[in-house]
Amino acid sequence: MSNNGNLKLAIQKSGRLSESSLQLLRNCNLDIEKFNDRLVVSVRNFKLDLLFLRDDDIPEYVQDGVAELGIVGQDVLYETKADVKVIKKLGFGRCSLRIAIPENDDLRDIEDLNGKRIATSFPNILKDFLRQNKIDAKIVNISGSVEAAPSLGIADYICDLVSTGNTLKLNKLKSSISVLESEAVLIKNKNLKNHSYKYQIFLKLLSRIESVLNAKNSKYIMMNVPKKSLNDILQIIPSLKSPTVLPLADDESLAVHAVIPAEKFWEIVDDLKSAGASGILLLPIENIII
Ligand code: ATP
Ligand code: MG
Repeated sequence: MSNNGNLKLAIQKSGRLSESSLQLLRNCNLDIEKFNDRLVVSVRNFKLDLLFLRDDDIPEYVQDGVAELGIVGQDVLYETKADVKVIKKLGFGRCSLRIAIPENDDLRDIEDLNGKRIATSFPNILKDFLRQNKIDAKIVNISGSVEAAPSLGIADYICDLVSTGNTLKLNKLKSSISVLESEAVLIKNKNLKNHSYKYQIFLKLLSRIESVLNAKNSKYIMMNVPKKSLNDILQIIPSLKSPTVLPLADDESLAVHAVIPAEKFWEIVDDLKSAGASGILLLPIENIII
């Protein structure tokens, strides 16, 4: 592998996290060329190399310093038990590791897991979960097609990743207790601080990632308001900073601009209208440096 002094970031080569990982990096204004089947690609305008790997290998590679950083699901991270530092939740790759049971079965509470056989490809996470809840169940470790285990008679229940539940339905299973809510995280080698040059590159990259994540969760709202309603309107706006108030050409109205949490927009829009706001615009934001 090239030893060009660049910081190395491992991401999933091809799978559910690949596209969102690349998108996040491109939103950080990193110029990443098409990588086809290459294992390593240097970013053109930043001292960073991307390593494209199977997601299962990422935690250990980061632990061992093959890459200083990685993007991986919390499920895979906890399962491998690698000794790395979690820097940031990234807000994509959300899924839920759950116990699923046959459709005609009933799990009233967690105690009902006692004495059951549970098939999973996440034996370490399941073992910790059972231990924490003082449940005595047998873990059947299988690597793929876990959802077939109950109908094959090798397990009573399964513990697997669920998003829509469609795969479960096809196998006459239904989702039950949640074992882990997972999303993609940025992880870091624990010794990175000792490499001051690479650590500086890491800090720069982190501030870009944070700015992109802040921006993604925020929107810029603009509206016109009658002067007399200004105070009411300012009460309603859940602004990150104090809103901007600008005079308009007519003497009666003002323009109000603010950065708000994206998810609040639909909660406040009716209140804004009732308080007299008009011409409400909501705009995306590319970056926010706080
Ligand atoms: P690889 O070939 O890299 O080992 P994989 O098949 O093990 O890939 P994917 O299915 O691509 O892995 O899933 C990668 C990660 O995406 C999971 O570890 C999980 O964190 C996340 N994920 C998000 N939604 C889902 C889902 N519905 N099912 C499974 N994983 C999901
Ligand atoms: Mg994998």
